[in-house]
Amino acid sequence: MDDILNFSVLPGDGIGPEVMNVALSILKIVGRENGFALEYKTNDVGGIAIDNQGKALPDATLNDCRQRDAILFGSVGGPKWESLPPKEQPERAALLPLRKAFNLYANIRPGCLFPELVDLSPLKTQTIPDGLDIVCIRELTGGIYFGQPKETTTLEDGDTQAVDTMVYRKSEIERIAKIASITAETRSKKVCSVDKANVLETSILWRNTVTEYFQQNAPGIELSHMYVDNAAMQLVRDPSQFDVILTENMFGDILSDEMAVICGSLGMLSSASLGTRANSLGQPFGLYEPAGGTAPDIAGKNLANPCAQILSAALMLRYSFGLEDAAKSIENAIKQTIADGLRTCDIATGNPGIGTSEMGQEIAKRL
Ligand code: NAD
Repeated sequence: MDDILNFSVLPGDGIGPEVMNVALSILKIVGRENGFALEYKTNDVGGIAIDNQGKALPDATLNDCRQRDAILFGSVGGPKWESLPPKEQPERAALLPLRKAFNLYANIRPGCLFPELVDLSPLKTQTIPDGLDIVCIRELTGGIYFGQPKETTTLEDGDTQAVDTMVYRKSEIERIAKIASITAETRSKKVCSVDKANVLETSILWRNTVTEYFQQNAPGIELSHMYVDNAAMQLVRDPSQFDVILTENMFGDILSDEMAVICGSLGMLSSASLGTRANSLGQPFGLYEPAGGTAPDIAGKNLANPCAQILSAALMLRYSFGLEDAAKSIENAIKQTIADGLRTCDIATGNPGIGTSEMGQEIAKRL
């Protein structure tokens, strides 16, 4: 009998539902080839959930997610909901609570630029003649975004002062170092840990803990350290020197966006956020989503690139279901489709490109 993959589908707003449909159709085909079936429920999230149920993350959606092994997420937000108070806006009121509910501490962001698409990168093509294939592993639930106190106060002299607190525990650093070492095992066995250990106490703990973790648990992985200011420079100077980048929350926020722009189009970039809890298969529970947003400028026009959503589905197979071969088959089909010159408009050069659903069909043919 087929294995059954049990996950929650949250398409969201804008291009979310369009690219999600394509990703699900690809998963169904891969399932037939690899002996698994899909059992999923589609739930409202984001703006559509505000419209239908009065809340960006309805209880029914959260409860469904709790009963599943993974979440396949589209993207949320758009002009229609921008006039709401910040706390009620779709991204803040849906994504942040989801991250919190599932303690999604490990953000994995592949930065992949196929050789055929190097002209899309703002970098000189001779810098990356063979394209790029790097991964940023970002700690997602600690550091300065969550540390307390976090407040703005009026001082006795009448001046105003704001405080954010950067805080890390050794155990938080160890668990993200583990994710980086597992990722590096399946790649070129190289990790560059990024910190600011010349200035920050948290970074000194980060560097010592990462060094100790790799010495004790992953001696076969080549570990290096780099200050974040240098890493930001090196990423634009010579990004191919990196394979796996491991870093804390705020540095990862900045560096992973820098990586995204180097890779040309948001339409090609996926991400995984893994939680502390294991799913019913003993694999990490995770939320998988494209790096981009809802692209309101092209939503509903069959113009969106579905690759980021499909690649996110491939990450779900890899991390939450342990189906490496199935994940690879999706990634290879996308590579082949691009190599054959088929492109959506965001990555097409010299022609208008093909539509979202047509791109999905071409990828499906190559599975
Ligand atoms: P965006 O990523 O939606 O769009 C930026 C540009 O990239 C646009 O020109 C868009 O057309 C293009 N683009 C993005 N994804 C694409 C795809 N798959 N195919 C082709 N082109 C693509 O960013 P934005 O315009 O700043 O934000 C729009 C909305 O999305 C906002 O409401 C924002 O809050 C929301 N957003 C949500 C998420 C999320 O849900 N995780 C992330 C970022 C932005």
